Amino acid sequence: MLETASKPHTKKALGIVQAVHSITPHMRRITVGGEGMAELLDTEGINDPAAWVKVFLPSGEGRAYTVRSIDFAAGTLDLDFVLHGADTSSGPASAWASHASVGEHLGIAGPRSGGFLLPGNASWVMLAGDATALPGIQSIASRLPADINVKIYAEVSSPEDQQPIDSPARLRTQWIQAQPEPGLALCQSLLHRPLPTGAGYIWIAGESAAIRRLKMHYLQERDIPRHCFSAKGYWKAGEADHRDA
Ligand SMILES: Cc1cc2nc3c(=O)[nH]c(=O)nc-3n(C[C@H](O)[C@H](O)[C@H](O)COP(=O)(O)OP(=O)(O)OC[C@H]3O[C@@H](n4cnc5c(N)ncnc54)[C@H](O)[C@@H]3O)c2cc1C
Repeated sequence: MLETASKPHTKKALGIVQAVHSITPHMRRITVGGEGMAELLDTEGINDPAAWVKVFLPSGEGRAYTVRSIDFAAGTLDLDFVLHGADTSSGPASAWASHASVGEHLGIAGPRSGGFLLPGNASWVMLAGDATALPGIQSIASRLPADINVKIYAEVSSPEDQQPIDSPARLRTQWIQAQPEPGLALCQSLLHRPLPTGAGYIWIAGESAAIRRLKMHYLQERDIPRHCFSAKGYWKAGEADHRDA
């Protein structure tokens, strides 16, 4: 069974930006390393699927980001930031990532569980979300066993924002073009779609109102048992530093 739900210990580390890469027009990868990271990378749960950390920017503000991948030999972890605005009025994390440079310091606290827990008898997995969920989707997909059927629904703002998703599992990906209302296109794609038969697991993340809608009108209306899904708002339109209750 692919396990993530143990309560991980939480560590705080001071990281140093080692590299900055543009992955797509709206996604920037920040590689964080430095001596302070060793203990964090040794912490239980840090390498679990969709594990996340709280990133404290040089300004001191903190935001949640998924651990996209870890290079244990180099002592670094990758965080993929959605660029939804380049000035601080649109969001300090996005603005910082837009201009980040090697050598800057970041505080990192965590890890926290990404909520993914595959039942032992599962034959399929559905992963869905917007660009903020992509690092989690990629992290989960990369760790699935080969005999699982995986369907991914990913909403991005342009075809250039699509990314490779590597997985040993049998993977099918549907890229969904975002509309001006975040999450609407994802909801429209999913709401009338039947689920595969047999045991499976659904992991969904993205804009809070869209996730709430999918919870009510997709998961609950189909009576999906609570232990067979995770659905979490990763941000909320019009609200800074949103946390889902
Ligand atoms: C567990 C978890 C894991 C996450 N992992 C990732 C990740 O790997 N990569 C990632 O990019 N995000 C991730 N997020 C989402 C990220 O934490 C939020 O998008 C966060 O609000 C960004 O902070 P900010 O300072 O840029 O904007 P904020 O100051 O929080 O918000 C300012 C304004 O920007 C808007 N806004 C925030 N995010 C977005 C967005 N994505 N698109 C459009 N408008 C937005 C808000 O509605 C608000 O109006 C994750 C969230 C959670 C809870």
